[in-house]
Amino acid sequence: MRILLFGKGGQVGWELQRSLAPLGEVVALDFDSTDLCGDFTRLHELEATVRAVHPDAIVNAAAHTDIDEVESDPELAYALNAAAPAVLANVARDVDAWLVHYSTDYVFDGSSPRPWLETDTPNPLNVYGHTKREAEELIVASACKHLIFRTSWVYGVRGGNFAKTMIRLAQERQQLTVIQDQRGAPTGAELLADVTALALHRVVPDGGQSLSGLYHLVAAGQTSWHDYAVYAIAQARRLRPDLAWKVKEIVPVASSAFKTTARRPLNSLLNTDRIQRSFGVCLPDWKTGVDRMLKEYLT
Ligand code: NDP
Repeated sequence: MRILLFGKGGQVGWELQRSLAPLGEVVALDFDSTDLCGDFTRLHELEATVRAVHPDAIVNAAAHTDIDEVESDPELAYALNAAAPAVLANVARDVDAWLVHYSTDYVFDGSSPRPWLETDTPNPLNVYGHTKREAEELIVASACKHLIFRTSWVYGVRGGNFAKTMIRLAQERQQLTVIQDQRGAPTGAELLADVTALALHRVVPDGGQSLSGLYHLVAAGQTSWHDYAVYAIAQARRLRPDLAWKVKEIVPVASSAFKTTARRPLNSLLNTDRIQRSFGVCLPDWKTGVDRMLKEYLT
């Protein structure tokens, strides 16, 4: 199998380099790759790259993921998060390749009283969510064979993430205030990469067309940002009691107490029955991956 990976240096892209390797030849690119173009602002060259590599599968882990920053630059966000994936989808159809694309809980407005289903109607609250929803629609409209994985609250050992920030702040401040009324499932880049590899192993060799579609892919269980912070800091203190911990209190607050440029949904929970049933995968509890990430990061 030949796989063309975009966004190789991001949280998910980094893990994909590892997890896709046993499937065959992986051509991994970032926006500044030189031999082949991996820059999502250069659409013609992007298309030429796909035609030159002629992959069995394209995996797109590149995106503009700074949710607050994109509010002030919607054009760039649209280019990277929607226009470029649409180019990949159209050329994937032409060369008969699968396209794997990652989307987000932020396509929803957070108003549901239960975890969101793939069949629920999106209603993004912010520019990032709009661009990611647009990509989903453009990929489906292209009629390429696709796997769109909607995920949430992604962390990896590589790069910055919420848990690492909380651990740093817990060594700098006596009191932290953390949002309590947004709920979701922290999901490891490792888990996303491993399930992607399992899915490709299933669909690419035999066509697997009936599995083409949209899937929610997050770790099991749920938490709030506040409870996630409490958990991560407690685990970190257990792992590294020698660090200079200052924090005495982690105060839960409502989203309204924090002014952010982009609005965030309150309920980010995604129902994963469809992917578990379709691919026979078992999604571990969010704490399993967070524990592992903290051990790798701190010890
Ligand atoms: P990262 O921000 O870690 O990685 C994004 C990658 O895109 C980086 O390698 C980045 O390069 C690259 N990139 C930036 N600009 C360009 C460009 N012009 N051309 C090509 N590549 C570019 O994202 P994640 O790994 O966290 O996210 C992976 C996917 O998951 C994305 O589709 C994202 O929308 C989705 N997702 C992420 C969530 C999260 O919490 N992070 C939640 C839900 C969905 P560089 O680092 O050099 O700028």
